Amino acid sequence: MSTCKKCLMISSLQNSNFNSEGECYWCQTNFPNYKPRGEEKLADLLNEHRSKSSSADCMVGVSGGKDSTYALMALKDTYGLNVEAFTYVHEGTVPASVENAKKMCMKLDVKHHIVSLPDQIHLRTFKTFFRSWLAHPSLVSAGMTCVACKHLHILGFELAKERNIPMIAWASTPLECPPFLAIGYKGNNGEVYQKSSLLENAANMMKEMVHSPKFVQGVVEHFSTCYQGCMAVSPASNYLIAKYPTVTPIKIFDFIDWNPRVVIDEITRKGWQKPVKSGDDWHSDCLFHHFKEYMFRKMLGVSYLEAYLSNQIRYGLLSRDEAMKSVEENKRIFLKEFPIAIKELEMDDIADKIDYQPWQSSGDE
Ligand SMILES: [Zn+2]
Repeated sequence: MSTCKKCLMISSLQNSNFNSEGECYWCQTNFPNYKPRGEEKLADLLNEHRSKSSSADCMVGVSGGKDSTYALMALKDTYGLNVEAFTYVHEGTVPASVENAKKMCMKLDVKHHIVSLPDQIHLRTFKTFFRSWLAHPSLVSAGMTCVACKHLHILGFELAKERNIPMIAWASTPLECPPFLAIGYKGNNGEVYQKSSLLENAANMMKEMVHSPKFVQGVVEHFSTCYQGCMAVSPASNYLIAKYPTVTPIKIFDFIDWNPRVVIDEITRKGWQKPVKSGDDWHSDCLFHHFKEYMFRKMLGVSYLEAYLSNQIRYGLLSRDEAMKSVEENKRIFLKEFPIAIKELEMDDIADKIDYQPWQSSGDE
């Protein structure tokens, strides 16, 4: 196993196809080919869909983290929209992040809503699929632990529709997309990537069902949560567009260049504060995020974090050394925070099944 000379991806990953120079396939093809479409195009799109009634123009999904806070500010101040915001709160939400979201909305004079799933569904599906992953680790069962989170997209669209708001804005960036999930490849110029199709996803799901009785049990028990979550996996999925024809989804960083330094500068000026304990503050708003990092690192040797940092290296935002430093810092935070997350979620029964070996840095051994 070797690590790419340019990024942090490793040769044991599926489709990594290292060349003789020691570069991974994704560096050779500049994955994920993020090219913002431009602020003018965003302005045109926003103007085209503005509210024609007394309702607000745009509902904005705000987690309290830096990117969504920036999106909210940009839409309100730069593009002059009348906006409302919502935060999806679940049993793994870190309270400080909701407080951040509330505080920023108050400062910006934006109406703020909280949405949640009933009956602890989020926590229950997470626990079911994490236990199913422990019994039979696979990319499918790991992915399903976060299926309830996709309901954030549905709840947001639902709220926008209810309030007669014609647009909904999301702050996810293409650079968050890990190449080990976007495995399909189309075209012959090495520049067009395609995420796996619905059919391929269904086939993978069937395979997991054949191999894991616990997974089957989970899908049966939480069928509607799983089905809807899978259909709404992207904030602009065809399912959502068909179900909510009066609400247009806007992924703001498809248009505006995503640069974390600019983002942090802008929002700090307005009073945003970085969550205290986080290294890279990416997804520090969610206790479940530690589990996701755990599962992927354990299975693949790298996780979402390395994928995200590698995408940033290719986009010219980070040096490889800076990215490596960030991984080490995040591993230290993980070792401290993961046992706390297990306790807070009352999952002590799985504590002795956790293997911390992949988090030890070479210096610790
Ligand atoms: Zn690479």
